[in-house]
Amino acid sequence: ENLSSQDVMHLENEYSAHNYHPLPIVLDRGQGAKVWDVEGREYIDMLSAYSAVNQGHCHPAIVKTLQEQSTKLTLSSRAFYNSVFGRFAKVVHEIFGYEMVLPMNTGAEAVETSLKLARKWGYMKKGIPEGRARIFSAEGNFHGRTLGVISMSTDPDSRTGFGPYLERVGPTFEVNDSEGDEESEVKTIRYGVIEDLEQALKLYGEETAAVLLEPIQGEAGIVVPPQGYFAKVHALCKKYNVLLICDEVQTGLCRTGKLLACEHEGIRPDVVLLGKALSGGLYPVSAVLADKEIMLCIQPNEHGSTYGGNPLGCAIAITALNVLLEENLAERAERLGKVFRDSITEIKKRSKAGKLIKEVRGRGLLNAIVFDESASVKGRSAWEFCLLLKDRGVLAKPTHRNIIRFAPPLVIEEDDLRRAIRMIGQCLEDIDV
Ligand code: PMP
Repeated sequence: ENLSSQDVMHLENEYSAHNYHPLPIVLDRGQGAKVWDVEGREYIDMLSAYSAVNQGHCHPAIVKTLQEQSTKLTLSSRAFYNSVFGRFAKVVHEIFGYEMVLPMNTGAEAVETSLKLARKWGYMKKGIPEGRARIFSAEGNFHGRTLGVISMSTDPDSRTGFGPYLERVGPTFEVNDSEGDEESEVKTIRYGVIEDLEQALKLYGEETAAVLLEPIQGEAGIVVPPQGYFAKVHALCKKYNVLLICDEVQTGLCRTGKLLACEHEGIRPDVVLLGKALSGGLYPVSAVLADKEIMLCIQPNEHGSTYGGNPLGCAIAITALNVLLEENLAERAERLGKVFRDSITEIKKRSKAGKLIKEVRGRGLLNAIVFDESASVKGRSAWEFCLLLKDRGVLAKPTHRNIIRFAPPLVIEEDDLRRAIRMIGQCLEDIDV
């Protein structure tokens, strides 16, 4: 049965929940940084499934591993040992330098796991009484969609109507009026503003188990923190005996030009969260990384997942990690990311339509173009800009009304990247009439 794009979109709109608003294109095939729709039209993928496909679509080595392992053993559950998980755990240890790994499936599950781990650590090692532990995050955070995770969110769309939320997690804290008789004020910890976190920890450090941050905020529109921010965060965490958890689900695995984005900051967090590209897009695999002192706070029967650590996912992840290293994808992301930002900056400076660009920002191949509000004055939102791009064979998605993220597979050919950049320039010309 050969369904057209229109047919497939109709089916999805009719029979699937409306929890997404996809760009009107139906993908059917992918290879490297290219994808094809059901009519066979070719596009350059500048999203990589939100940074899950860093190794490129259907990477041959990862596909081969999937094929081989899928005929051998796919799932044992952790009721038994399986012949792959231990190997995966050792590979992760050797690559990232943490003593232990706790395997899960999705990014949000890894985040949830880290919240539980931090609370348990706070209870066992720091003596925070049950029910008192706090976990601080920052304004604009995105860590997934589960109930615990959205309890930290500051995005109305993610929260409204879904309450009540988990207590004592998130970017807010109460500051009591010094007179003691006024209403207490609720403050929000701004991302990148060290004084906010400092104030929160000064007031609540003793009962705080962890600080959870993205090294670069992804869904907030690729927000890069000021130089030195994370070093200060790390120092504060040490001072107050608080765990620093870095959510590298989107930023990790070579995306920003380093294996982990926190390497740019020169810090080693206590807990690192990985997902998305850990399997190169072939299978959901996520992981929580920590040393024994922390990880062993969780004991048998206290946490788990049926699919976590399954041999199929682990085999795929081992190959996916090898591909990142063997193909020097960190270096490639660093180099091509510079090409992207330099070229967009050039368009901004040199062309008349370039004035619609306010800023290009990011690290490695995790970048965003921020449009001047005049772009929307001209009646074009970032969404409409993405539709124009699509018609010119480039796929990207906005994070905000005036911000578009550009995060192609790290294996993208330089020629394709330059073509995508030219198309961005041409779409700007189209708008600027
Ligand atoms: N953390 C971060 C930083 C993310 O960007 C995302 C997904 N965009 C998640 C967690 C959630 O991952 P998943 O969708 O696999 O649950």
